[in-house]
Parts: sequence; C-alpha cells; structure tokens
Amino acid sequence: MDSARNWLQRFQPRDRLRPSIKREPVGSEREERKPLTPEEASNLTKQRVAAAKQYIENHYKEQMKNLQDRRERRSLLEKKVADAEVSEEDQNNLFKFLEKRETEYMRLQRHKMGVDNFELLTMIGKGAFGEVRICREKTSGSVYAMKKLKKSEMLRRGQVEHVRAERNLLAEVDSNCIVKLYCSFQDEEYLYLVMEYLPGGDMMTLLMRRDTLTEDEARFYVAETVLAIESIHKHNYIHRDIKPDNLLLDRHGHLRLSDFGLCKPLDCSIIEEDFSIGDGSGASNFDGLSAPKRTQQEQLKHWQKNRRMLAYSTVGTPDYIAPEVLLKKGYGLECDWWSLGAIMYEMLVGYPPFYSDDQMSTCRKIVNWKAYLRFPKEVKLSFEAKDLISKLLCSVDQRLGSKGANQIKAHPWFRGIEWDNIYRMEAAFVPEVNDELDTQNFDKFEESVHHTQTSSKSGARSKMLSPKDINFVGYTYKNFEIVHDYQVPGMAELKKKNSKPKRPTIKSLFEDESETS
Ligand code: ADP
Ligand code: MG
Repeated sequence: MDSARNWLQRFQPRDRLRPSIKREPVGSEREERKPLTPEEASNLTKQRVAAAKQYIENHYKEQMKNLQDRRERRSLLEKKVADAEVSEEDQNNLFKFLEKRETEYMRLQRHKMGVDNFELLTMIGKGAFGEVRICREKTSGSVYAMKKLKKSEMLRRGQVEHVRAERNLLAEVDSNCIVKLYCSFQDEEYLYLVMEYLPGGDMMTLLMRRDTLTEDEARFYVAETVLAIESIHKHNYIHRDIKPDNLLLDRHGHLRLSDFGLCKPLDCSIIEEDFSIGDGSGASNFDGLSAPKRTQQEQLKHWQKNRRMLAYSTVGTPDYIAPEVLLKKGYGLECDWWSLGAIMYEMLVGYPPFYSDDQMSTCRKIVNWKAYLRFPKEVKLSFEAKDLISKLLCSVDQRLGSKGANQIKAHPWFRGIEWDNIYRMEAAFVPEVNDELDTQNFDKFEESVHHTQTSSKSGARSKMLSPKDINFVGYTYKNFEIVHDYQVPGMAELKKKNSKPKRPTIKSLFEDESETS
C-alpha cells in the first residue's frame, strides 16, 4: 500500500518533492521562481485535500475489506468443520491453526520482505527460469517453497509482460485446488515467489515411480484435476500448460495446480508450415518420424528415460499441449481439457498419447491426432476410460468440457465420485512425509558450487501482496497474449474480454501501480 506521504507527494509541485533538501535559490532560479497566485494556491490546496481524503478513504476501505475477508475465511472454516463433524479438540486445533496463519500473513504483509528474510534450504525443482527451494522464514520459522526466476531469462524470452498482469488477475481465484502464494518480491537479478510448500511431490515423480496407475487411482487424481481446472476457468483463466509436473501433492496426497507461468518455449515456428501436412489419411508417412514400432513396455521405458530430461530442459515437453494451441489458430478454455485427456492417458498407459522420439514429431502427431490416437492392446482399459479419453482428445467442437466442467463430471467413468467431498476423502496415495523439511518426494538436485544464501546487491526491493491480493491463493505469470512460442493470434479478443492489464516493464514487476507511474 502507498504511504500517505507518497500519495501527497504526487500532488506536490516538482520543486517541493524533496522537502528535506533545502537550499537557497541561486542566480536565475531566483527570478524563475514566481510566487503562486491566490487562485493557484487555492487549487493546490484543494488537490491536496482531495488526495488526503482519497488516501484515508482507501486506507479504511482496505482495512474493512481485510477484516471482512478474514471473517469470511473464519466462517467458511466453521461451516466446513460443522459439516465434517470433527471432534471439539480437532475443531479448536483447526481454528488455532487458521488464526496462526492469519497472524503470520498479516505480519508478512506489514513487513517488506526480501530474500534475506528466508533461510534457503533444499532445492526441489529446477526450470528454465530458475529454481524452487524450500526455505524457512527467519522470524516465524515457517517453511515455504520459494521459486526464484531470473529476470534476464524472462526478458530474453519475452515473458516479462505476463508476470504481474496475470498475478493480479488470478488474485480473484480462491481455491483449495491451487497452490497458495504468500508473497513476492524482487532484487536486481531475480523475482521471488514464496508459496506454500507441498511436500507430496509432483505427479510426474509419482508416475515415474509407479509406471501406471489403476483406474481407481487415476480417477481420484483426474477428478481433482477437473476441480482445479474448473476453478481457474470460472475466472476465465486458461492454464495452457497443464502437465504432470505442474500437479503438486499436499502432505495428505491431495492435488493442487501450480506453475501458471513461464512455459518453456519450443520453437514451433520452424515446423508451423509442416503442421498442415496430412489430415490423418497419410498417417503412415508420419510413422517415420516416430521411431520404430515399440511394444507398450518398450515405449514406457523409452519415455521414462527421456522424461526428466524433457522436464528440466529449457524446451519443455509439448506432449500435453492441445492441437489448436500448436496450430496457433486461437483457442479457448477447452485446451486445458485436452491436456487432462493426455494426462489421463499417461496415467493409465504409462506414457502420453503422442509421445515420439523427438518433439517435432510429437507436435505433428498431436495436430494429426485422428491418425495417431491409439490404445495399445497390451493395456486393458475399461470402455468408459477409453471413451472419456477419446472425448477429451478430439476436436474442440466435440470436446467434453467445452460447455463446462459438468459435462466431464457427468461422464460414466466418474460414476460414484462425490465431487463435493473428494478433497475431504483419503487420497489414492498418502505420501510419506516425516517432517516439515522432508523432501523425499522430490528428485535430488545437485547444488552449484556457489550456492550461498542469495542476497541482493542493492538490497531487496520487495513488495508484499497488495491488499487487493489478500485472497490471492493462486499465482500465475503467463498472460493471455503470449503463451510462449506456442502462442497464437486470437488471444487479442480473449484479452479484451478479460479486461486489459497494463503492460509492466521489468522494473515495474511486482510493484504497485503508483510506484511505476
Ligand atoms: P517451472 O516453470 O520450472 O516448471 P514450477 O513452478 O513447475 O516451475 O516448479 C518446478 C518444480 O518444482 C515442480 O514440478 C515441483 O516439483 C516443484 N515445486 C514447485 N512449486 C512447489 C511447491 N509450492 N511445493 C512443492 N514443490 C514445488
Ligand atoms: Mg512446471
């Protein structure tokens, strides 16, 4: 929030901006500085009064809103607790926990945070733009996950614009199914996002450990992913990068969607032309692209050998991306349901449906999905499972979900699922988590030799979530306009529909509007 002085200063004439530096006017300045006419002085006073009034009003409005939000969170918990019929002792513990988090959150809000407020611990993720580590906030001792993004990389890849605009927009999304963001700040080199730490690992790691899931297990995760996607779609958001590595598991094994951001670009422009070749009829011509025929087991081993490399490469994997996104013909919310279909296929078959030895071939197979979507005969799948997958991996106009998540929820494969209760049920796998710093469900990453506590050169310029972001439980930094290189015309309309965010510069990322103006 702006300080009162900042606000008032914006209404000061230039030469009064620095009241602490007083000096006698010299030479020509003496003549230039004319006294204000009574009318000018009166206007100035009026402006100052208006600014002060606005500041005070905003300040109290925000405080009231915070209070109201806090009350709502409390009454939501009370309702949930009443519905769940938990013991009095458990109820008290839950309320205490909420109050503790609220207090911590207020404290985080009041203080300007920087990377020096955190003790950086084990690395749990590494990506194109930086790394993710668990960390401990020094004052409270609370453990979080900190994602650090290198500004120059984001700039180089043209991702800067997304960061703030979508972050602000997603502030509206308040959902159990989305990773919570506590605060964000920056220093000269990096942007930092401090999120809740989800110690259950990610779906990619789970799948690599398990090869395939049973239909019952898959149903649980697919159902929770449906709810997560639904919650962002309700706010007119498209994730566009839904894949197993972005599905995280909390300590009880429930799923949360994360990484609404900086996708790893694959330069599709080179193959764009090629995409149009074939409509499925000449499918066999493409088989040359997809390596020799393998059995399901061979394909699974091949996929697993490459999977991590793909995940950690700067290129990322296109395996879950919808054809309309690849074809740059404009797309809507349905593209996320395609990704869900690809993930469901992978859960049951062991590898994603269009996996090929190289990514260009994968892209070609995706856009020619009619010819390439096959269920290996070695894998026994129920009719309903195949039917659901086929209704997700299909053209946009046929795709289930294009008229809302209820279409998917009503599919017979989900028969018996209690949609309102699923987050309260026992998860398909309850991860082993021994303490708050346990990272056993993540890969081990090698530390670079110079890893020390990062400290900003110029002192971290930090910004807590603005009061507007109080309910900000999700975060994202991918904009509607540029996804990355999979991006597309047609986004302009979507963007208009979804209110036009101001384009931030690298300097203004995460800063208040007022600071950048
Ligand atoms: P990238 O843009 O590199 O894909 P992600 O946000 O997906 O970045 O993070 C990379 C990996 O780090 C994830 O796949 C996950 O394993 C881990 N990770 C990210 N955020 C969290 C979190 N809040 N809690 C636990 N693990 C996380
Ligand atoms: Mg990711």
